[in-house]
Amino acid sequence: MTTSHSDKHYKATEKVSESIKQYYRESAEAASHGEPVILATGNFPVELLYAMNVVPWFPENYSALCSARQVAGRYCRIAEKNGYSKTLCSYFKCGLGSILESGGPFGGTLRPKMIVTTRFNCIPHIKWWEILARFYEVPLFVLDGPHVVAAKMEDYHYEYMVSQLEDLIELIEKTTGKPYIQDRFTETLELANEASRYWRWVLDSRKNIPSPITLSDLATDMFVSVVLLGTQKAVEIYRQLYEEVSEKVKMRQGATEEKIRLAWDNIVLWYNLGLFNYFEQHDAAVIYEPYISDTWGGVELNINEPLKSLASKCLNIWANFSLELRAKRYLQVVKEFHIDGVVFHSNRACKPFSMGQIQLAKYLQENGIPSVSFEADMADPAAYADGQVKLRLDAFLELLKMKKGLL
Ligand code: SF4
Repeated sequence: MTTSHSDKHYKATEKVSESIKQYYRESAEAASHGEPVILATGNFPVELLYAMNVVPWFPENYSALCSARQVAGRYCRIAEKNGYSKTLCSYFKCGLGSILESGGPFGGTLRPKMIVTTRFNCIPHIKWWEILARFYEVPLFVLDGPHVVAAKMEDYHYEYMVSQLEDLIELIEKTTGKPYIQDRFTETLELANEASRYWRWVLDSRKNIPSPITLSDLATDMFVSVVLLGTQKAVEIYRQLYEEVSEKVKMRQGATEEKIRLAWDNIVLWYNLGLFNYFEQHDAAVIYEPYISDTWGGVELNINEPLKSLASKCLNIWANFSLELRAKRYLQVVKEFHIDGVVFHSNRACKPFSMGQIQLAKYLQENGIPSVSFEADMADPAAYADGQVKLRLDAFLELLKMKKGLL
């Protein structure tokens, strides 16, 4: 059985669910009153867009929402019927399908004044945004940077990106008529930092045994870090989450009955978040995932070097890590978070998150860390076979329990 709902353990997570609806309703309303909308990729520095007083809108997040509402498959098929390959990113196909049908939750994609993307994460980030820019006949800005982040980044990488961000600020001013105001930018970054501190603390709280929070909540909670960072609302929600989680830590309570501690590799299945309940029903807590922790994991921005700081934040993400960095990071988190095994979601839709998983699994095995892999798709349920996946997971959990002497 698949379900887009996972049982949540925190009231703050219910607040996040409300904030998702509120964000989409309010963005649509602001656009209808003529406020300028900018469509941006998920790893674009949202703080800059809030500082410029425009309405940031994220097509990838919208496709995840469509998937959670069980309509992504239909939109993917529309894009395929219009000639786009089945093998393309399902966020792209879903987003485009909903635009072609002029449909989708909350009234569909907002008509933008301009479009911003990055060149270093994946090819859809360029091609998808080019298609959108042609469709809406608006300017497209592509932030360039090193495609793979190696162990050491040089100053010239950041100088190059800072100069582009300066050009972008000018372009936003010219296209939207919204002025850049230094004080507002500083205020936005301070709000982002405050929210990020709470968020980082919550993510790190999972080092506790038992873990006070799992991916059942965090898959929803991450919305704030992706979409709302730099707003007062983000601070309020993450402060509440922090307070609730710290209570649990004080009481040494786990989010769930926890015999096995797992890491999840790749984007979650938005149409089937209920899978995380399945783990919990089998006494397994999913307590680490590079997708959230090493992508939107609550980075402290340097207020004195704001653009360099934003450049560093959007470059240093899991999908842009070299294989060597990913391997090192896994060894570190397995130790720090006391992880028993890793579940690899081999995601047909997202190549940057899936490439290298076989090598990583081999590397983990050589270091005594078991893993299991299954194929699916983050947004399109057509590529998911519930029975087969659970058969693999059951065998894996049994193996881990035997290894720990629990069976
Ligand atoms: S391929 Fe992956 S990173 Fe690129 S747009 Fe799709 S989901 Fe996002």
